[in-house]
Amino acid sequence: MRIGVIGVGHLGQHHAKHYAKMKDITFSGVFDTDVDRAQLIANKTNTIVFPTLNDLLEASDAVSIVTPTPLHAEVAETCIKAGKHVFIEKPITQTIEQADHLLSLADKNNVLIQVGHIERLNPALMALAGVNIDPKYIEVQRLAPYTTRGTDVPVVLDLMIHDIDIILALVDSPVKNIRASGVSIMTDSVDIANARIRFQNGTVVSMTSSRIAKDKVRKFKIFQKDLYVTIDFLLGLTEIYRVFEKDQKDHESILTAPLDNNGRHREISYEKPSVTSFDAMQMELTNFVRSIRGKEKPIVDGKAGRDALDLAIKIHNMIIEDIH
Ligand code: NAD
Repeated sequence: MRIGVIGVGHLGQHHAKHYAKMKDITFSGVFDTDVDRAQLIANKTNTIVFPTLNDLLEASDAVSIVTPTPLHAEVAETCIKAGKHVFIEKPITQTIEQADHLLSLADKNNVLIQVGHIERLNPALMALAGVNIDPKYIEVQRLAPYTTRGTDVPVVLDLMIHDIDIILALVDSPVKNIRASGVSIMTDSVDIANARIRFQNGTVVSMTSSRIAKDKVRKFKIFQKDLYVTIDFLLGLTEIYRVFEKDQKDHESILTAPLDNNGRHREISYEKPSVTSFDAMQMELTNFVRSIRGKEKPIVDGKAGRDALDLAIKIHNMIIEDIH
């Protein structure tokens, strides 16, 4: 299988690095409209630069699309029409019409779309694999210092969409209603956003995303019946507090406090599941290769990327409505 990379800027260089290291594929090369940048990354990853997108496509069976988001739709359409499997960095596209168009094109051309919602593979989130998650309330904070990168889209499509994708994977219910507000600080678009979502099953989610912060913060807290999970994506730290009937403990944990009330003797325990560190991008691109070969299912397929975008756009539109 021959795989190439389109767009080798800040993130695309890492796609190139990972494909260059994979033993079971051929890294076909790179294409970037910035020729010097393309050559620099090709030299570093011991590959070649193609002069046009079509040249890269002729030499590839699949590609990673890591161009600025406003170009995803156009570039992906060319690749899919050429019959190539595509890994599109997040967000899948800028509009839901574009995403739907790509999904139907991919269906027609029998190719795979996978989307780079890499936080889904964050080791601290993966550490919850054995825990029965049935959230009642989720509170999320994702703050980042200002950089010009990513500001070609509003903060909801740049940062909040990571958490939206995780939430849609955790909450198995349609959205009932959305409340959202936000402000512009540094750009003409929304830089700080807050959204509250109620799902039809009663789950409530509160999310704040900001690209005007001194320090990075990525915290994700899940509250459910007799369970509280707190995840720090940056520290790679997952902590679980559980309430259980006294003497019913069936898991490795530290007792923290008795909880005796109304004649019920319960305990609160604290667990820190071990977070196995791994390279999330290597895992998502390996998953892409194995999915094309039919050996695995995509962790984030085109439909999941489309659904995350759909909710992100609804939140963003509500913020714009609220501002005006
Ligand atoms: P960047 O500006 O650093 O890189 C984009 C590259 O694409 C540049 O080298 C540019 O010359 C090239 N390019 C522009 N138009 C092109 C075209 N028509 N064909 C080929 N190359 C073209 O941007 P970035 O920060 O690397 O972001 C790229 C994408 O990755 C964006 O969609 C962004 O949202 C996404 N991203 C995802 C994550 C994540 O956590 N998954 C993080 C950062 C960025």
